[in-house]
Order: sequence, then C-alpha cells, then structure tokens
Amino acid sequence: MSKVKYYYDPDTLSYRKIEPKKSKKYRNLFLFLSGSALFGFLGLIILLNTSWLNTPRELSLEREVQNYELQFEIIDKKMEQMEQVLANIEDRDNNIYRLYFEANPIPEEQRRAGFGGVNRYKSLDGFNNSEIIINATQRLDIIQKQMVIQSKSLDEIAKLAEEKEKLLASIPAIQPVRNEDLTRMASGYGWRSDPFTKARKMHWGMDFTAPRGVPIYATGDGKVKRADNRSSGYGKHIRIDHGYGYMTLYAHLSKYNVSVGQKVKRGDLIGFVGNTGRSEAPHLHYEVFKDEERINPINFYYGSLTAEEFENMLKFANQENQSLD
Ligand SMILES: [Zn+2]
Repeated sequence: MSKVKYYYDPDTLSYRKIEPKKSKKYRNLFLFLSGSALFGFLGLIILLNTSWLNTPRELSLEREVQNYELQFEIIDKKMEQMEQVLANIEDRDNNIYRLYFEANPIPEEQRRAGFGGVNRYKSLDGFNNSEIIINATQRLDIIQKQMVIQSKSLDEIAKLAEEKEKLLASIPAIQPVRNEDLTRMASGYGWRSDPFTKARKMHWGMDFTAPRGVPIYATGDGKVKRADNRSSGYGKHIRIDHGYGYMTLYAHLSKYNVSVGQKVKRGDLIGFVGNTGRSEAPHLHYEVFKDEERINPINFYYGSLTAEEFENMLKFANQENQSLD
C-alpha cells in the first residue's frame, strides 16, 4: 500500500493530492518481485550448503570419501608390514650375506634416504586430507627406493657368490694321487737331504711314491699352461694355472693325458706317474705356487682327507727324511 502524497498549490492556497502515475506503479511491482526472487535464490543456496540438507549426489560423494579414508587406513597397515619385511631383509643382507662375501654393509642412511630439495608433494597440499595422502606417498617413495637399493645389493651378492664358487673350485684342494695308501707320501716340503748329493737342500714340494703308470689328477679347476720336459730336473711335467694367483706343478711323469691350453676340472686325469728327470725312483713330485712363490702343499688337501688322514700325512710330511726330488 503506497502512501498518499500531497502538494501545496499556491494558486488555490490549499493542499492537493498527487495522483500516482500508472507506469510508476508497475515499476514498483517489478522491483518488489525481482527483489523477492533474488532473496529466495540466495536463501536456497545457503540452505543447500548446510549439512542437514544434502542432495543425493552429495550424500553419495560423502560416502565415497569415507570409503577412501578407510581404504587408506588399510593401505597404511599394509605399508607398515612391507616396511617390517624390508627391514628384516636389509638386516640379513647387511649382517649375513654382505658380511659372508666380505662386502661393506650398506649404511642405514643410504637405504632409508628421503628426497631432499624441492617439495615433491606440493601438488598434494591444500586439501582436507593432504596430510594422510602426503604421508602415504612419502612412505611409498622411500619403500620404492629401499627396494631398488636392496635389489642392487642382491645383484652384487649373486655376482660375489658366483666368483666365490669359482674361486673355491679353482684352489687346489685334493691329493694329486689317490689316497689308497698313505705310505705313498714319501717326503714333504722343507729341508731334506738330496737323494743324489746327500746334502741338505730345500725341497719345494711333496713326493708321493707310486708305481709307474698310476693316474695323476688335477687338484683344482684351471688351464694347462705347460706339458713338456724343458724345465731342468722336473722331467716330463705339467703346470696348471688355476687363476687367483694359484698354480700347481706335477713332475717326473711317464706320460701326459692333457695338452697345453686345455681346460681341466678338479679330479680330471692329467697324466701318469713316472721316473723322468732328476728322480731317484718312480714318484710324483707336486708343488703349489701362490703368486709365483712355492708354498707348502700340505695345506691344500682339505677336499679329500679326513682329520685323521690329515694328521697322519702331517706326521709323514714333517719327517726330515731324504726326498726323491
Ligand atoms: Zn720331490
């Protein structure tokens, strides 16, 4: 209801009523209606944004977010298990495998190092659940890095194990003649009297007496370096290069069973006992070299002797008798 308005008319000296124009009436009505509509619309928006009046779509989204949060908790627990298993593997890696193969342990800081520098997780910032997501992403990144380091370490160990196996197969470790009768051990490494001059002389190997033709075996894996009689005193002899600085020599042979350049395995038949060169009676003279130095072969039979047999051999070998050369 609009107010009735008056104006003063000086001609009649009286107040007269102002008649409202029709167009103004309609304008007011329009303003009133559009104002109400605007208020109604704003009210509706406010209502829709309050929690007690969610649309079905919002309700389903909310349930989905709750489900994600639950799944994150489960993933979190699984990551914890993974971290424990990894820690256990790393522990064994450092304290058993790497130790056994004489490799340096990988330091803890290196295994568990995070990622420095720029904030890698910036894009995950600024949401309600940013903390959970950044935490999980960070843990996963570290686990992934640990796995790469662990995998590399195992590669290294596999290589070392292979090397070690090769080394163990190469080092001389058995007797060059069969151990049927230890009386075959005639003379050891050390000072012995020379069978020809009777003077005391260093005997650089071990002598095994045996009849002519008894088989001689390679004492470790290697390659035949020499098989000839061009070395003074040794007669027909064989030298096997085992690698890693090891070489063995078999002297006074009657016959060869290998030729130069041939690869041999431990236990392969390489020749036969004889009496060639500077030898008093049929026997095998056996020498072991390490880095071109002749060392006592007695320390290289652990592959074929029992403790008792070794004890006996030690007794024989230490007797200061006459060598057969
Ligand atoms: Zn000898």
